[in-house]
Amino acid sequence: MTHPQSPHHESLFAAGMAVLLCLFAAAVVGATRMVSEDVAVTLQALSDEQGHVPRLSGDGSALLIPGTQAAPTTARLRFTLPPTGADQARWVVWFGRSPVDSLRLGQAGWSSPERDFYHPAAEEGVLPTGYAFPLPSTLSGDVAIDLHARGGMRSALRPRVLRENTVMRIEQRGAALTGVIYASLFMLALLALALFSAARDRTFLAFFGYCVLALLLLAAGNGHLYQLPGFGVLSAWRAQGIWAFGLMFSAMTLQTLQRYAGARVTMPRAMHVIDRYCIGLTVLAAVCLLGLPGAGVVIQPVATLAWIGAAIGSILLIFDAARRHVPMAWPIALLTALTTVAALLSELMMRGYLEPLAWVRYGYQVALVVTAAVLGVGLVSRIGEYRDQRDRERVARADSERRMRREAARNELGTALQARLRTLAAGDIEWSAFRMLLDALLPQVPADNAAVLAYGYHGHDVLVTEPVTRKQAVHDTLAKRGLVLKRLAALAMPLQQPGTSATNPADSLITEAVIPLPIRSPGWGVLLLERAGPEGFTSEELALAGEFIRLTLMHADQALAAINLRRSAELDALTGTFNRRTIDQWLTRSFSDAMSRGEPLSVLFVDLDHFKTINDRLGHACGDHCLREISAALRTALGEGNLLARYGGEEFIGVLPGHGGAAARVIGEQLRAAVENADIEWEGQSVRVTVSVGVATRLDSETAPAATIDRADKALYAAKRGGRNCVQVAPAIFA
Ligand code: GH3
Ligand code: MG
Ligand code: MG
Repeated sequence: MTHPQSPHHESLFAAGMAVLLCLFAAAVVGATRMVSEDVAVTLQALSDEQGHVPRLSGDGSALLIPGTQAAPTTARLRFTLPPTGADQARWVVWFGRSPVDSLRLGQAGWSSPERDFYHPAAEEGVLPTGYAFPLPSTLSGDVAIDLHARGGMRSALRPRVLRENTVMRIEQRGAALTGVIYASLFMLALLALALFSAARDRTFLAFFGYCVLALLLLAAGNGHLYQLPGFGVLSAWRAQGIWAFGLMFSAMTLQTLQRYAGARVTMPRAMHVIDRYCIGLTVLAAVCLLGLPGAGVVIQPVATLAWIGAAIGSILLIFDAARRHVPMAWPIALLTALTTVAALLSELMMRGYLEPLAWVRYGYQVALVVTAAVLGVGLVSRIGEYRDQRDRERVARADSERRMRREAARNELGTALQARLRTLAAGDIEWSAFRMLLDALLPQVPADNAAVLAYGYHGHDVLVTEPVTRKQAVHDTLAKRGLVLKRLAALAMPLQQPGTSATNPADSLITEAVIPLPIRSPGWGVLLLERAGPEGFTSEELALAGEFIRLTLMHADQALAAINLRRSAELDALTGTFNRRTIDQWLTRSFSDAMSRGEPLSVLFVDLDHFKTINDRLGHACGDHCLREISAALRTALGEGNLLARYGGEEFIGVLPGHGGAAARVIGEQLRAAVENADIEWEGQSVRVTVSVGVATRLDSETAPAATIDRADKALYAAKRGGRNCVQVAPAIFA
């Protein structure tokens, strides 16, 4: 993913950031200017009852709190108080605020109030920077006071003896600086929420989490969080609560930077690892919050390692983004690195390896706020990008929904065609199929007018229009455009052209799409779609129309093929009457019906007279023609309810349910007369054909057609012998 660069904006933001940094630097320097009125203090570690001697820092100026046991750590402070000046100021022993569970000064006959990092006393003021122990005014000259500390995180206590007003100055500056830091983070968190509501991108939620957790982490690490109403309960977790905030903050940093960098797209595998790591950090934070007794020994080094890992991950992530020219990534990368270094320095200071310089104490906090601010600025500058991305996602979603809708419509059309066309007669298949095509297509590809036009499709000419009322109008205009459309259909690909409305030429511009129907030549056809305006149809819409057309034609062809197949199995190909197979089935059925109902049933056998001669004289084609004409004449003469079939070469059979011998004879006579009077023409001359007819009526003893047919055949033979062109009824004796 590449990000559009806006060098103008970036330099503007960089300038703004530089101003911010200068302001902060000024604030830090102002708030942390070294106080030079120190009174030199020497420390002497005192062993406890078990004989443990607490450790001092390398230069001997700080007492190291091991952070692993609740046992008291004691040291003796020795210093010489100069004679009080004209200002009569009191002296104060002051420690930077380290996370210690309990801290107290004592001397024979005097003991200071006890201080607890997690339970700041009201007299310590708002946002205290250190622990202040005002000394009794009675003290002067060489003083020795014992320092009792207990529990807490691994840290260093470095006592300083200062004038009361100096301490006040330090405290005020510290309060002002931390106040500004908290307020900045608070504002950034609000900004993150506002950005989220504007762009609805999760990155802003992650940024919100980042700001809130940074605020909680700093406030807890400075010991200020517990002063807030409602937050006092957090003090129960003591140091573990601070670690938990730190771990969650690390996870949120990784998530925020990863989203800001768009790394999920560029290196998905690494992001998978980072996601796992974040889960690990969260689990570790949860373990901290369980407050398992004695777990601190293990958790603190693990948490420190986890922090370092997260910091390295964050720096790599954001530097990679900078390499890919993600806007503002360079300043964010540098600041993240700076913050990490500052945090490490502060950690070293906390553990007594470094002088307790105020800029070290506040440096990483300020760096964190500046990083967050620059990140916020970067997010604001990219808000358009996020919105574009969201819009793209929305479009993609709508696209896939539309595709799914179309797919569903296609399936529906296929099912409907299959179900409906099978029930139709041959001549109805085509227009029904095209009507269904338009009904299914138009909701997916809206058009103001639509028409399917097919010439010679299955031997029919079909025109289906939508709306239906336009059929005549379309018919009239098509008469004029037929040739053009035929040529377009031959191109076998959809195209569209601007035009004016066919029905109302005064109308404004329309676009007409012509989509050819793949119909076998010499037939041809097109689907015409009309839409108002010059934009026309998308290629996707045209492709969809083509697909619907292919589906429709396929089902129409199949339906017709099924009808033809059924027909060829049932009917005689030459004459269109039933074939022998079918009539045999009907005969069996008619026989059992007649038997069960006790009704009569007669069979007629019809044979053409001297047909061989016709074939010989006029040719086989003429013979075929005669067979077709005669079968038509026989069918008409036979009447409703009776069946006719071609039984053999030039023999027909008639089945007359419900007819007794007399009635059958009458019908046989009608058949004979019909053929005799038939007007058959062949190559300009009239052909005369006659038939002989044998009639047999079912006898009660006859339970299967064979015997009756046999008697009819014999009667026919008798008719032939009787001179042909006559009807003979089989007497019972034939049986
Ligand atoms: P008759 O029945 O009066 O005794 O004389 P016929 O000439 O009709 O004799 P027959 O029934 O034995 O001959 C049947 C002839 O019908 C033989 C064959 O050439 C002709 N024929 C049979 N089937 C077809 C057909 O499908 N087309 C044509 N053109 N001729 C056929
Ligand atoms: Mg014959
Ligand atoms: Mg014959």
